[in-house]
Amino acid sequence: MPVSRLMPLGSKAEREALLEAIRTQFYGLDTVYPLADGRTARRVYLDSAASNLRMKVSDEIVHRALAHYANTHSQLHFGARIMTDLYHHAHEIVRNFVGATDEFTVVFNGNGVTGCINRMARVLAEKRPDRDVVITSLMEHHANDLPHRKHARKVVHIPLAHDPDGEAGRVDLEALQGAIEAHGGQLNYVAVTCASNVTGVTNPIHDIARMAHAAGALVMVDAAQSAAHAPLSVTCKDPEECIDVLVMSGHKIYTPGSPGVIVARKALFQGLEPQDVGGGIVNFVDAERYTITDNLPDREETGTPNIPGVLALAATMYLMGRIGMDVLEEDERQLTQYALDHFQAIPGLRIYGSHRLEVADRIGVITFNIDDLPHGFVTAVLNDYFGIAVRNECFCAQPFVRQLLGIADEHGVAPDSCMTRVHDPAQKPGMVRISFGLYNTRVDVDVEAKALRHIAEHAASYAPNYVPVPDGSGDFRHRTFRFKPGEVFSLENEVDDWLNRAGT
Ligand code: PMP
Repeated sequence: MPVSRLMPLGSKAEREALLEAIRTQFYGLDTVYPLADGRTARRVYLDSAASNLRMKVSDEIVHRALAHYANTHSQLHFGARIMTDLYHHAHEIVRNFVGATDEFTVVFNGNGVTGCINRMARVLAEKRPDRDVVITSLMEHHANDLPHRKHARKVVHIPLAHDPDGEAGRVDLEALQGAIEAHGGQLNYVAVTCASNVTGVTNPIHDIARMAHAAGALVMVDAAQSAAHAPLSVTCKDPEECIDVLVMSGHKIYTPGSPGVIVARKALFQGLEPQDVGGGIVNFVDAERYTITDNLPDREETGTPNIPGVLALAATMYLMGRIGMDVLEEDERQLTQYALDHFQAIPGLRIYGSHRLEVADRIGVITFNIDDLPHGFVTAVLNDYFGIAVRNECFCAQPFVRQLLGIADEHGVAPDSCMTRVHDPAQKPGMVRISFGLYNTRVDVDVEAKALRHIAEHAASYAPNYVPVPDGSGDFRHRTFRFKPGEVFSLENEVDDWLNRAGT
């Protein structure tokens, strides 16, 4: 079992008590919105797979650290030394969170996984030019597909195996083995998600690593969805099962405003000019020449980093590691099975993937449709009449979603008409997705299940209130209820209020 190198704090019971204590410590849990029928409701946030809410504790810690804020490229004054030390240490915390040894470096990069994978696709194409094939799967987010298509000569998409309930499960390991053998010495790396952002189903990443390594290929793991929800390690007892590149998004680890993270073998960067060059990474520059430091991660982090974001992310990861990802995982598993059982019982509601965790392990992501109700309609009613925030459409995973809906073939190829046809806005294919953060409880699931049952039974009474949005997204909007974001929160108003108070 992979393990983090962060030491959990105390007994399991003590750590469960800490989880209860942290559950309420997030921004946005008490936010109240007006509803379409004139009532107001505390919002129920069930969209954590998109971004989860920001943890107050790490934010408060960073606010205290900001008393020392300085640029990490400054050297000698006290603030610069404190910040540089904190920033350096943040790398160590992340490294320990994912069980990485000294062979690995941690690089903070851009906004999230999209930037990290684009970067690593460029690095690996340049590092191993003779190996120009990449294997990925049909359950990937576009971020773990399109960058490889752009930088590799050929990308092979592995289909999914059916789980024992006959549903789309995880990557088909036999098909993967076949593709690995077919491309042998040409294969650069296998890029696979740790958990699907559509079904939540998880992949056996260490088995996949062993298979890739046996052919001299590398493995890149997209941990965007799983990092905050289950134990994760790049290392293993068996070195053949180690992960070579792992990427995460800070905004999905309870720290919106923090960067993406690459954890990769140092050797992959060595001997290559960094993808980005500029200040902070050079030894010598004149008008004709420059030399770059050998130090990692410095040479891969040119420019002034997002220091407050990095510190907040590291504090969050340290806190999660101290509570223990085993405790967080178990808690979410119980909530997810509770939700699957309740949703499954709603007439007309079709969950994608098995609703039994014992046959198809998944993190707290559940995607469904209700009969032939448009996903955009269900999502809008959930928001407008119940204050429940969920996601709809295709979740940036069009091949997988179309396949689950029976539109694309088993290779993930859609009919030509999908590319050219302008959809009736009410008919655009998609799904509804709910997803959990550690702040969600059975109360939230009960509210959601009750609302879904109500919508399933009374859709006709809501339908006249809605029209499809003409942009073809499949979204719907209320005919008369107008929610004006700028009236709820405006930066100018907030600033002017402050200025007025300051001036009196
Ligand atoms: N991979 C997966 C599995 C995701 O869920 C997401 C975000 N939805 C991404 C990649 C892209 O992450 P980001 O938006 O942070 O770049």
